[in-house]
Amino acid sequence: MTFSYSRSYRGPIQAVLLDWAGTTMDFGCCAPAVVFMEVFQRQGVPITLEEARVPMGAHKRVHIQSIGRLESVRRRWNEKHGRDPGEEDVDKMFAEFIPKQIECLSTYSELIPGTLEVVGELRRRGIKIGSTTGYTTEMMAVNLRDGERQGYKPDSTVCASEVPAGRPFPHMCLQNVINLNVSAVAACVKVDDTVPGVEEGLSAGMWTIGLAVSGNEVGLNLQDWNALPKAVQEAKRQRAYVRMHQCGSHYVVDSIADLIPCIDDIQARIHRGEAP
Ligand SMILES: [Mg+2]
Repeated sequence: MTFSYSRSYRGPIQAVLLDWAGTTMDFGCCAPAVVFMEVFQRQGVPITLEEARVPMGAHKRVHIQSIGRLESVRRRWNEKHGRDPGEEDVDKMFAEFIPKQIECLSTYSELIPGTLEVVGELRRRGIKIGSTTGYTTEMMAVNLRDGERQGYKPDSTVCASEVPAGRPFPHMCLQNVINLNVSAVAACVKVDDTVPGVEEGLSAGMWTIGLAVSGNEVGLNLQDWNALPKAVQEAKRQRAYVRMHQCGSHYVVDSIADLIPCIDDIQARIHRGEAP
């Protein structure tokens, strides 16, 4: 054959899949970080806020396991217990994590500025709103209730505990494709504040937008972020942009409030025949 032909999706964006903590609520993604610190403290191995944040985005049990595998934590665990943290330790800490996380979620569940406006604009364009999260179903019940109370209710929510594997596997994104009855993964955009969350979207064959300032990468609540001197803000912003770009995000912006220009650009690229 002299020529070959390939097809490309040229239709409308059908769905935007939004992460929860650090994307639509909990500016700085603070709720999980403080509880991870608490459960390690209870085992006599205090961890830093930075260590608590490294695996952010993963299923919360996987997250605990990953903290235990950080070289610095593993060393201190050995000093305290004379061995590496094992599966039983992870199970024990996860069991303690669940009620503590549920207890404090509402303290951090305020919507991130711009969420309602952007979701409203996406809906006006006929785009469905899906969501994925590293939280379990019972934790999400709290966030869903608090989100709805503030006027945010996605059409689909898939939790890490509802699929065979959480991020960076594509399963939660693909379950949203099914739930929302979307015809092509290339018609979807995944938005997330963490590296595994962007990788999840890429693994699913979707467009991705990384959020640099509102989530885990900067890791400060809105008040603390606003209180920073401009030069310090800029240094933290730059570091976060590099991190989110290097994991393969098609776009990186500060927060969900900056989403619409990216959506416009993605739609134009789809019309031209570009694929994620
Ligand atoms: Mg997040």
